[in-house]
Amino acid sequence: MTDSRLLSPSPASLSEAARLLGEGKLVAFPTETVYGLGADATNDQAVAAIFAAKDRPAFNPLIVHIPDLAAAEALVEFDTRASTLAARLWPGPLTLVLKRRRDCPVSLLASAGLETLAVRIPAHELAHTLLETVGCPIAAPSANRSEEVSPTRATHVLQSLGGRIDAVLDGGPCQVGLESTVLDLSGPMATLLRPGGVPAEDIEAVTGPLAEAGKDAPPKSPGLLSRHYAPRTPLRMNARTPAEGEALLAFGPDTSADTTRNLSPDGDLTEAAANLFAVLRELDEGGFTGIAVRPIPEDGLGRAINDRLRRAAGRR
Ligand code: AMP
Ligand code: MG
Repeated sequence: MTDSRLLSPSPASLSEAARLLGEGKLVAFPTETVYGLGADATNDQAVAAIFAAKDRPAFNPLIVHIPDLAAAEALVEFDTRASTLAARLWPGPLTLVLKRRRDCPVSLLASAGLETLAVRIPAHELAHTLLETVGCPIAAPSANRSEEVSPTRATHVLQSLGGRIDAVLDGGPCQVGLESTVLDLSGPMATLLRPGGVPAEDIEAVTGPLAEAGKDAPPKSPGLLSRHYAPRTPLRMNARTPAEGEALLAFGPDTSADTTRNLSPDGDLTEAAANLFAVLRELDEGGFTGIAVRPIPEDGLGRAINDRLRRAAGRR
């Protein structure tokens, strides 16, 4: 990619931004909290490109933005708490982590492999119009490189990600300038994962006292509050050949008859990232005694892929 385009907030630019997103391109856009780096959340490759552009050394789950409640209900399961909070506080800087619906079309990479998905309706007119125009959920973490502060102006985005993304929609300075409050409602206890733009008191008025992540959370109720996905099947890295009963997960050109799946026969790390969680799940459910993974280069997205594989390997 050469240049990142700066798009004015005109109707023509808005439809151009929506068209780019629909094609799987990366477009940063303003919300009331900070500028988000948007991609079609249903497109594995586009979501992988977000991690590549940000240079993130690990896959953490992303917040998916939608224009209205109906769009959110198509992705995740709402209970009474979630519906009441949504009715009171959306649109606004509140992110709800809820169970993915069985038919949820969002990339597993946006959930970092988890059974849950973080969703939010931003209170920003331009963001809202953009989301309505694209017509698909948009995954959008803050539009900055890893380790840098979140951008609250289009120029900040260009300073950090210029040349790495397709366009920035300029909506002027962000109003809140603070990230969204992240609330986990996927288990019985409402748990605050990140304080942010909506005060905890406003949430507690609906849910009662909140648990704090890591502190009051019940110890490891399976899958409930875990923030990282790992397969149940033992996994080992830098494998050459599979042992009896093991699946072999390859990467790059490969002619071995032992290969069960290949993350990217072309050796493309973005493609490998896009496939990672879906393939791990498939192998996890395949009745293998173990998963042997061929070496994956430790550069670009390879670092994030290896980070996740190391966690999976270390878990046992
Ligand atoms: P960002 O997109 O950079 O604003 O950060 C998103 C925040 O939401 C991070 O703190 C994530 O760990 C958290 N988050 C997003 N999705 C989930 C999820 N499914 N489960 C737990 N935490 C999540
Ligand atoms: Mg950030």
